[in-house]
Amino acid sequence: MPKTNNELPSSQSFQFETIGLIESPYQEKFAIPRQPNLVSAAKGKVVLIGEANNPDLIRDIEQFSHLWLLFVFHGTQAQGWKPLVRPPRLGGNVKTGVLATRSTFRPNPIGMSVVKLDKVVTVKKQTVLHISGLDLLNGTPILDIKPYIPYSDAIVDAQAGFAQGQPDAGLSVQFSRQAQHGLSAHLDEYSDLSLLIEQVLAQDPRPAYKQGKRDDKIYGMSLYDLNITWQLTGLRQVEVLAINKRVELSSK
Ligand code: SAM
Repeated sequence: MPKTNNELPSSQSFQFETIGLIESPYQEKFAIPRQPNLVSAAKGKVVLIGEANNPDLIRDIEQFSHLWLLFVFHGTQAQGWKPLVRPPRLGGNVKTGVLATRSTFRPNPIGMSVVKLDKVVTVKKQTVLHISGLDLLNGTPILDIKPYIPYSDAIVDAQAGFAQGQPDAGLSVQFSRQAQHGLSAHLDEYSDLSLLIEQVLAQDPRPAYKQGKRDDKIYGMSLYDLNITWQLTGLRQVEVLAINKRVELSSK
């Protein structure tokens, strides 16, 4: 006899197809903001694929300024998960239940981000959603897209425990002479590059245990096909040292 809903087996698995792939300036986990909309200059695309690459699926979506993206944490899923994690917001030392955090290491490695929808373009049968404010790694597989509905999704008096307010890193960013040359050299390709770098570094991408501490290490981060080096010059000041095309090492 078929099972009714009341007799569901205790374990079930489901299979979902990827409906789109993210194109993002963020090429590695380091320096991606911890939530969407912290870096408004981060612009990306959702490239719809397979059966989802059909303008019918997104008809009227432009009526919504923001979208929920449900995605797979594909860059960390192979590392598995644990019941307790150490959220960066708590300095990386305090353990909290994984389901009480937005950690990437979850029983099902599914993430959700609200992003701004800038425009929708279909060219040569390829539909692309242009988005901004994303916190997603390049190549992130998208499982679902839903419109953001403020009257229900925005709860102004909600309590958010250790993540009540926006992180207050607020580092100020300067560009060395060499970095300014780098900006000019790539201006045609990436017109918002200086704002993107400023907003990313203002978040202080260093590990939680280094935040608020002196540090003379030279860091590198990858945005688009560029390698950007930077260093703290004070407790709350960063200098961008250089901006160069990334050199891909050959696999030979
Ligand atoms: N807004 C999402 C959420 O709440 O589910 C993601 C929050 S998670 C704390 C944000 C971090 O996920 C980013 O800083 C980045 O390091 C990481 N991340 C983004 N895309 C990823 C991917 N495809 N695979 C693994 N990690 C990813």
